Amino acid sequence: LEFRRVLFRSDYDLRLLSILASLIGLILNNAMLFKKVEALAITDGLTGLYTRTHFIERLQEEIERAKTNSIPISIAMIDIDYFKKVNDTYGHLAGDTFLKQLSNILRRRFRSVDVLARYGGEEFAVLMYHTTIQESYKILEEVRKMVEAEKFFMPIESYRPIQIKKTISIGIAELTTEETPDELIKKADDALYSAKENGRNQTCIYKENK
Ligand code: GH3
Ligand code: MG
Ligand code: MG
Repeated sequence: LEFRRVLFRSDYDLRLLSILASLIGLILNNAMLFKKVEALAITDGLTGLYTRTHFIERLQEEIERAKTNSIPISIAMIDIDYFKKVNDTYGHLAGDTFLKQLSNILRRRFRSVDVLARYGGEEFAVLMYHTTIQESYKILEEVRKMVEAEKFFMPIESYRPIQIKKTISIGIAELTTEETPDELIKKADDALYSAKENGRNQTCIYKENK
């Protein structure tokens, strides 16, 4: 009580203090909310991977950085082969759990410095920092084989759980001169298209004037 008398001369001081305290509380709360919203904006709700927007932003940053320090950067576009069939056979919800299982495989294989994103519905993109096209080919072929060997669990109403096998097609491209994110993505997309054309379940490297 003596302490209180010394520190706060009046009830007025105390009231002021309590107002300040709640103000600080509000500010902290706001900052926390801001962080939460920020995290939501860069994270895909279903898979927990980065969003397409964040992928493109990071790609832009890395391209800028690569101009000055000539660090090799490769990107890959990954697309599930005949994914529509999963939805048609087991339903859209089962399709969603498939996407989650596949995301976990991808997450396990890539490093935390790589930017792994869900680029579209059943399409994934990854930015591999410090990685040449030859290195990225090796990595993606490993990933492809991992997926090929995996048994995916399909949640359906049955006594026996159903497991299915699926494959993915991959297109990769390496950053060459001064490209924009869109141009580099287009190259990886072209390579992905070749992989599909050539019969799927394979990794294709982008080639100039093919
Ligand atoms: P391809 O080998 O040529 O890639 O064949 P595909 O069937 O995978 O390709 P297509 O583009 O014909 O179909 C993609 C399907 O992916 C269509 C759509 O129903 C499904 N899809 C896209 N996003 C989602 C999603 O978020 N959840 C589920 N369950 N399905 C999705
Ligand atoms: Mg697709
Ligand atoms: Mg597909």
